[in-house]
Amino acid sequence: MRPIDYTAAQDVRGALQKLAARPLESAPIGGGTNLVDLMKIHVQNPALLVDINGLPLAEIQEVEGGLRIGALVRNSDLANHPLVRERYPVLSEALLSGASPQLRNMATVGGNILQRTRCAYFRDISQPCNKREPGSGCGALEGFNRMHAVLGTSDKCIAANPSDMSVALAALDATVHVSGPKGERTVAFGDFHLLPGSTPERETVLKPGELITHVSLPASRFAARSRYLKVRDRASYAFALASAAVAIELEGKTIKDARVALGGVGTKPWRSAEAEKALMGQPADEVHFKAAAAAALKSAKPRTHNAFKVELARRTLVRVLALAAGLA
Ligand SMILES: Cc1cc2nc3c(=O)[nH]c(=O)nc-3n(C[C@H](O)[C@H](O)[C@H](O)COP(=O)(O)OP(=O)(O)OC[C@H]3O[C@@H](n4cnc5c(N)ncnc54)[C@H](O)[C@@H]3O)c2cc1C
Ligand code: SF4
Repeated sequence: MRPIDYTAAQDVRGALQKLAARPLESAPIGGGTNLVDLMKIHVQNPALLVDINGLPLAEIQEVEGGLRIGALVRNSDLANHPLVRERYPVLSEALLSGASPQLRNMATVGGNILQRTRCAYFRDISQPCNKREPGSGCGALEGFNRMHAVLGTSDKCIAANPSDMSVALAALDATVHVSGPKGERTVAFGDFHLLPGSTPERETVLKPGELITHVSLPASRFAARSRYLKVRDRASYAFALASAAVAIELEGKTIKDARVALGGVGTKPWRSAEAEKALMGQPADEVHFKAAAAAALKSAKPRTHNAFKVELARRTLVRVLALAAGLA
């Protein structure tokens, strides 16, 4: 049995100091619903757990018409917050489509953004996996890859990012606020997750010893007209095969502005500038929704078992655009 040290921090400074003492072998623990899971199957093996649940980061505050969301806000609290439901319904819907009520009561915003892929080869230490063990190979490339990504893949890794919440945050132009040994910095949500490329073990721009402290959402003219749709193997308690988050601003029947992000199909939460371009200035109708969906999936690279995801993602996007436009 391998010993694991545990320590609890009460403020950000204290947590950073504890992490900095052993930066490469420590991990902050939020809800623990992903980390402990992966520790039990020996995929993640931190020697020191820094419990951050005592940090004062569990508030949702209105700031300049937008929201500041602490990294320790539980997924249920965020989904059910009146301002989120009213102004950013896509975020509430995305959160409520994930996991189960018990898990959402534990899971935190920071942990959700940083949750690891559900790739079965990643989660099985007897299998090769470039993400878990760089250079060992990828079991999924020629293996059973039905759940894997079709966008943003590389010849080293095709793992899908599993977070529903992150798809909504990508569509909402969120910003991630980070604190670390060198101070504080902000990262646009679209830049936070990395494509696998030749280094799939690097998943985000977060450096060892850094903490996510909060996420901010800008005031938006049109996020109130936003929706999330998730397609999965079961009606609940299943990860997305394909999902889409959209926000649109209409002027009469014309789309003045649009935000589009996809889930279940990308190696990172997939913001689609191509789909947004195809929608802007166009009538809000099925012809243009289909054109946007085609643009969003144009660069898709399916593998043996996941080609169905390309059409599924297109249809999911068409449907959620119709919902957001009030046409379905
Ligand atoms: C059965 C099951 C079904 C699920 N279904 C879904 C689903 O359908 N959709 C979905 O989106 N998710 C789903 N999930 C995943 C769930 O959403 C995540 O496990 C959860 O959001 C992780 O949050 P946490 O606070 O528990 O993270 P933790 O497990 O505490 O941490 C996860 C990672 O983030 C790091 N970390 C945590 N907080 C911070 C911080 N503030 N700063 C820096 N690093 C930090 C930890 O060190 C760890 O590496 C499911 C999980 C389970 C177990
Ligand atoms: S797809 Fe990525 S996570 Fe899955 S086995 Fe290949 S390298 Fe590992």
